[in-house]
Parts: sequence; C-alpha cells; structure tokens
Amino acid sequence: MADFQVTQIEDYAPYIGSEAVERIVRKAERLRDLHVVNVNSTYYGGGVAQILSSQTLLLNQLGIKTGWRVIQGRPDFFSITKKMHNALQGGEINLTEQKKKIYQEVIYENALRMHLDHDMVIVHDPQPLPLIQHFRKKCPWIWRCHVDLSHPDPELWRYLASFIERYDAAVLSLEDYAQALSVPQRFFMPAIDPFSSTNRELMEEEAQERLDHYDIPTDLPLVVQVSRFDRWKDPQGVIDAFRLARKEVACTLVLIGNVATDDPEGKEIFESLCRCGDDRIFILSCQDSALVNALQRRAAVVLQKSIREGFGLTVTEAMWKGAAVIGGKVGGIRYQIQDGVNGFLVSSVEEAAQRMVQLVKDEALQQRLGEKARETVREQFLLTRLVEQYLDLLGAFKA
Ligand code: UDP
Repeated sequence: MADFQVTQIEDYAPYIGSEAVERIVRKAERLRDLHVVNVNSTYYGGGVAQILSSQTLLLNQLGIKTGWRVIQGRPDFFSITKKMHNALQGGEINLTEQKKKIYQEVIYENALRMHLDHDMVIVHDPQPLPLIQHFRKKCPWIWRCHVDLSHPDPELWRYLASFIERYDAAVLSLEDYAQALSVPQRFFMPAIDPFSSTNRELMEEEAQERLDHYDIPTDLPLVVQVSRFDRWKDPQGVIDAFRLARKEVACTLVLIGNVATDDPEGKEIFESLCRCGDDRIFILSCQDSALVNALQRRAAVVLQKSIREGFGLTVTEAMWKGAAVIGGKVGGIRYQIQDGVNGFLVSSVEEAAQRMVQLVKDEALQQRLGEKARETVREQFLLTRLVEQYLDLLGAFKA
C-alpha cells in the first residue's frame, strides 16, 4: 500500500500555535458524529474547487465526515450560469423564461441523482442553488456564495432570492455583500492551504525546473497574473499596464490561467489575448499548480488587477509567498491588501503601471511589502481560520 499522507491539523501548529490547534480539535470533537456534504459545480479551476479540495480533507481529518459532490450540466446550462455569475457581479443578463427553464431543469435532474441524506448540506454559488426545492428538508441547508455581490442585477437577485430564502443561512465573503434577505447571513472570508501543491514550500531548483519546462525566461524581472481568463480579472488591463511600465523598466509579463469546466467564456478570452503578439508577454493556459507556485515565488511583482472580485485567492496565495502584490481596489481584495503596507491597491491601468515600475526598480520595497504580506496571511487567511468558522456554524445548528 502506497504511503499517502494528508495534512494533519497539528501541521498548522508552527503557524497558528498549539493552543489554536487544540481549540479547533475540541470544537471538532463535539461534532464528530456529523455527516456533511458540499455541492458545487466544478472539481477544478477557480477558487471554490481549490478551497473545497483542502477544506473537505481537513474536516475529515478532524473526524467530521465531509463529502463533496459536483453537479453535472450541459454547455447551455453553464453558459446560463456564467451569465448569472456575470450579472451578480454587475454585468447584464436577459433573464428569459427559457433560461430559467434550462437552469432549473438541469438542477432537477441533478437532484434526482443526488441522494442527499446528510446532517448538513452546504451549496456553493448560484449554479446548484435550486437543488433545495427538490428535497424534503430534514437538516440545515447553507448557501455559500463566493462572488462579489456589491452590485447584483436586481431582477436576477429577486429570482435567485426565491431559492436562497428556502435555506437556513447564507454565508457571504464580506459584510459589504449583505443583502435584504429573510434568512440569517454570515460572513466568512476564504482562506488558503499552505500545504497544497500551489502553496507548499518549493526549492529554488524545483521552481526553476517548472519555469524552464514552459520556456519562461528569467533574464528580466517577472510580472505575473494568475487567474481564469475572465473579464472581471481584467487581463487586457494587465497587458496595457505592462506595456506602459515597460517604457520605463525592462521586465517580462506572464499571464497564466486555467479553464474551469463551469466557465465557458475562458477559451475565447484566452484566444483574443494571445493575439497581442509581443515576445515579452507569455500567455499560458494550463492546469499546473506547481508552475503557479513557482511563478508566485519568483515574480518581482504579482498582479491581480480585478475589476470585481469576491475574494482573490491568488492575492493571498502570492502574499503567503512573500510576493509584492498589486491588486485592484475592489471587493475582497480591499480587505486582503492594506495599501502601501503589505501590497498596493490600484484603480486604473495607469496606477497599476506606476506601481509596477516602482516595484521593479526597488527590490527593498518588494521585500518589505512581501514580509508584511506573509505575516498578514499567517494571521488572517490560513485554512484553519475558515475551518473554525465552519465548525462554529455547524455547532450553532447542532445546538
Ligand atoms: N489557478 C490555478 N491555475 C491557473 C489559474 C488559477 O491553479 O492557471 C488557481 C489559483 O491558484 C487559485 C484559483 O485557481 O487558487 C483561483 O481563485 P481566485 O479566488 O483567485 O479566483 P476565481 O477563479 O475563484 O474567481
């Protein structure tokens, strides 16, 4: 039998202290008999899958039987749910009866196949939201929303709220996203797993090997953005900012993204960016967490120039590696980065370019921000904090 290992809660002691570890173990012990299930819409690509893969393992390690199911859907379903995702973040949608029918029909089919007979059901994001209407509710159902809800389309929100209000609680990433709902709302910011392949320590040679494998040159400072090819991540804005910055400093830009199965827009955006024709801009579409890890470690500057962002996992991942991060001044990023202290916040292409130039020129500044950044993540954004919030929520429902 191969020697497989998963992270143990005790592995976190060097980062959060043994008292915090013991407190979490005690809280979990009181919930040991529970069987919990999470439902979302993709096994990989995007932050939710990243969080669930680590969180479900850690909860199982703590003795709580925690499962993870993924809904299946046809391309037309995911095209509609991506439009909903966009409209929740401030875009537009033509919410026709036909779209509602396809959305609800696919979820009904999933409900028939999913025999949810648990002590707690946690449904993530809008894609699987209507599941609840097909079960006789015998346990608490939680809706966990990860998107930036600061400007949801009102008509779409009214439609989705008719499902959300059947749940026992809604968990949103920030208090800023609170909505007028009849169900209680809780606010948990996401968090990262320091032991995952994206975030674990990497030897210098391992990092170099990954960069060489993809022919990424390291002769000039690297400027990097890691994210799905999605308009809210503003990849074109990153390219424009890089071109402005390069008039003053020499550097290489790497944009790396993966394509999530529930995001049909990624391929087209990737292809349009590839037409930029610049030998100092590398645009990669692949799923390689070790490469993401290497790039975040080796970058002089990491960008996350989003124009909407529920919470930028990539921001926190890079900060954990001591990177100097420039983030869009939106959504969760405003709570992840303290401007000028542990990174920079920007609101335009020009500002992003200025900060890029400043950072590429000043290694001492990169290091100063990076050290603070790592400390911020250690204190606030490790998975143990999020798992403890879930334990408290489970405990409140069990009581
Ligand atoms: N990611 C990855 N490979 C890529 C691009 C992204 O593994 O090429 C991961 C990234 O490391 C992060 C997640 O996907 O863990 C993206 O999460 P984030 O919250 O930043 O954005 P989302 O896609 O959820 O909007």
